[in-house]
Amino acid sequence: MLKIPLIKEYLFEVVEKNEENLKIIDCLINNKITDEKIAESTNIKINTVRKILYKLYDSHLATYERNKDKETNWFTYTWTFDNENIVSELSFRHETKISKLEDILESEENNSFYICPKDENRFDFAVALQNKFKCPNCSTELNWHDNEYRISIIKEKIDASISEFNDFEKLIKNLKT
Ligand SMILES: [Zn+2]
Repeated sequence: MLKIPLIKEYLFEVVEKNEENLKIIDCLINNKITDEKIAESTNIKINTVRKILYKLYDSHLATYERNKDKETNWFTYTWTFDNENIVSELSFRHETKISKLEDILESEENNSFYICPKDENRFDFAVALQNKFKCPNCSTELNWHDNEYRISIIKEKIDASISEFNDFEKLIKNLKT
């Protein structure tokens, strides 16, 4: 799971990107394991392990069960990584990103824009008209802005995002089978 780029990227947003944290997560993924066991097998201080586990917990990426040890009367915490949640969080992010890009694309395709040759501020038709096609900042005459290039960049971004997410879904599917 940690080999999947989008997953790794997201985990490193939640916890700081370093070797220790990677070891802790690697130990937790696909295991039901206590914080002590993680500390033991990674050789990382228990406080550091707990700090990372709670960060994951706060981001809904890990859960724990609390049990009382009958001999010592101490509580043990058995942790699991939430595979389903990270996948649904990443799907949600993807949907949001695509719909934002599509809104921008729609606005570029359905409006005309005017640009100030001096300071390169851009205005839509309504604002340009309101200002009699003069820049509201510097009064320079506005030029019509050819946004074909901008549109092609947005389309490329949408395509790239979709294919990145398709790859991600394939990798996830392969994990499950
Ligand atoms: Zn201007």
